Amino acid sequence: MRKRILLLEDEQAIADTLIYALHSESFDVTHVRLAREALTAHEKTPPDLAILDVGVPDGSGFDVCRAIRKSSDLPIVFLTARHEEIDRVLGLELGADDYVVKPFSPREVCARVRAILRRSAAAASALAPMAPASAGVALKLDEQAQRIVCAGQVLALTRYEFLLLATLLRRPQRIFSRTELMELVWGGAPHTSDRTVDAHVKLLRAKLRDQGLQGEVIQTHRHMGYSLRLPD
Ligand code: CA
Repeated sequence: MRKRILLLEDEQAIADTLIYALHSESFDVTHVRLAREALTAHEKTPPDLAILDVGVPDGSGFDVCRAIRKSSDLPIVFLTARHEEIDRVLGLELGADDYVVKPFSPREVCARVRAILRRSAAAASALAPMAPASAGVALKLDEQAQRIVCAGQVLALTRYEFLLLATLLRRPQRIFSRTELMELVWGGAPHTSDRTVDAHVKLLRAKLRDQGLQGEVIQTHRHMGYSLRLPD
């Protein structure tokens, strides 16, 4: 089935190149220019993913994201004009799945969209029945499917949450400094900071707690960084 993309972008030339690229990859695209139109479109026909421009005439993509997040885990990709916005986009406040900075190549955007949709499809289809907590290892990294299973359930993670937890999970007990994590997870992207790492750790801890994992799985080491303690 064709996946439906909601595109919020007020610059026609940018929208046109994106629509062209998305159509050529067999996505259906609903294009809107205003924040309020995006919310109406989202309500009327929920899309499979939203691409939101940050700056639009009647508000911002951030507001649209916040409104959508109240009722839905819809994957969201931001189009940002400035690097300074990235911290907000990926941080605690908005929890987007990904972003691209203008100017971007439409092909790159399509590749991100495909990757995110693959991940969320994997998370949705692989909901194994809940296993008893004592049945083997509680957290399991499935490298091939790019997902993490916790107590028999696939965790719904954003891109960077996944990369962060996978990094810790590959080497349990090892302490990673924030600088190392920025390099390994964010690829040394400019404008990531210690706070980016901390915000994602906080989100991950909440998700692991929601799965019923007891105690702090991601441990803080003062002045050193983070490590993963495998739950018993
Ligand atoms: Ca704009």
